Amino acid sequence: VTGAETYDLVVRDVRPLGGERVDLAARAGHWAAMGHGLLGRTVVEGRGRLALPGLIDGHMHLDKTLLGLPWIPHIPGGTVRERVAAEKQIYAELPPGSLGQRAARLADLALSHGTTTIRCHVDVDVDRWLDGLIVLLDLREQYRDRLTMQLVAFPQSGVLSAPGTIELLGAAIREGADLVGGLDPISFDGDLDGHLDAIFGIADHHGVGLDIHLHEPGEMGAQSLLGIAERTKVLGLGGRVNVSHAFSLGDLQGERLLEVARHLAEAGVSILTNAPGGRAFPPPDILLEQGVTIMCGSDNIRDPWQPYGNADQLERAMLVAYRMGWRRDDQIELAARMPMDLAAKGLGLPEYGLVVGAPADLVLVEAGTVTEAVVGRPPREVITKGRPLASLPEISDLKLVRG
Ligand SMILES: [Zn+2]
Repeated sequence: VTGAETYDLVVRDVRPLGGERVDLAARAGHWAAMGHGLLGRTVVEGRGRLALPGLIDGHMHLDKTLLGLPWIPHIPGGTVRERVAAEKQIYAELPPGSLGQRAARLADLALSHGTTTIRCHVDVDVDRWLDGLIVLLDLREQYRDRLTMQLVAFPQSGVLSAPGTIELLGAAIREGADLVGGLDPISFDGDLDGHLDAIFGIADHHGVGLDIHLHEPGEMGAQSLLGIAERTKVLGLGGRVNVSHAFSLGDLQGERLLEVARHLAEAGVSILTNAPGGRAFPPPDILLEQGVTIMCGSDNIRDPWQPYGNADQLERAMLVAYRMGWRRDDQIELAARMPMDLAAKGLGLPEYGLVVGAPADLVLVEAGTVTEAVVGRPPREVITKGRPLASLPEISDLKLVRG
């Protein structure tokens, strides 16, 4: 076949998002061509399967999981503050070095389900300093050939209520964290303006974005959301600020919901949900209609906060659709976009999808349509950064203990 180009990888005969059959070719970890009869040094046979772009988990806590340890029963109840104390007790009893190994287990689990990009919150506080961040920066390096990872410096113990945290968050960004986190400015720290001024100040100073945990209900949460939107607008941070959970948007009704949503859309603040059980959550369809980017993520998986989760973003999309009571294909397809193109937008990924130029991340499933893939959550064959995942060793088998 003289003259024809040979690519690093060709995935033969797939249906991108359920469309027409085509071959996809990758070079140097990115999609380089689409067509028919393409030649590759490595060839993956698609056999007409549905191809999805690499899935995105917009919210994980790799540092918190207890995956890989013997089962630890959930410690029930309590406020956020009491739960933080309980989790510190559990982690204190684990063998040193376990954090990296637990996190690697969870990263491998996510990859096995086709997640190739993760936004991970990592606890930064005056008890644990930057210890967790340093382990996860190492982990990110180890996974560089297979996983895109954004790290959020997360003040799990509050900002103003734990003096010294502001300095630590700044230090975390200097060490390599990508975003500044936040936590319930009113209900946890008791000072909306003080909390938001502090974290937006760090973000502005270092030129990074923010991802804020907001569990505050109803009108209290609305006040925090409006404060976040206002600062995002003033500092020109549109497209770089996300609010995770935003339960308030599940509580607000009618015109007030639309009003808060419009402020978020105007400012360029996105929303993330994990469709929590037993709690109203932001309605994705209404927010999208108002121009708000909404995505999904796992949040806690098998950790002291909750026992559930398997890092499967098709399952997360199913949970969103299921909890919304959605049955129509167009509704379920909307849920499917939440760990795909909507998350790519929310995370500010410059290139994404089954298009030339984007990272060559792909998930193959036995399904006729995207809706069927969400409903059935079939087994996956995963390509990441231009290579079959099956050809890469599992990193969690390696010792990741630092030093
Ligand atoms: Zn979280």
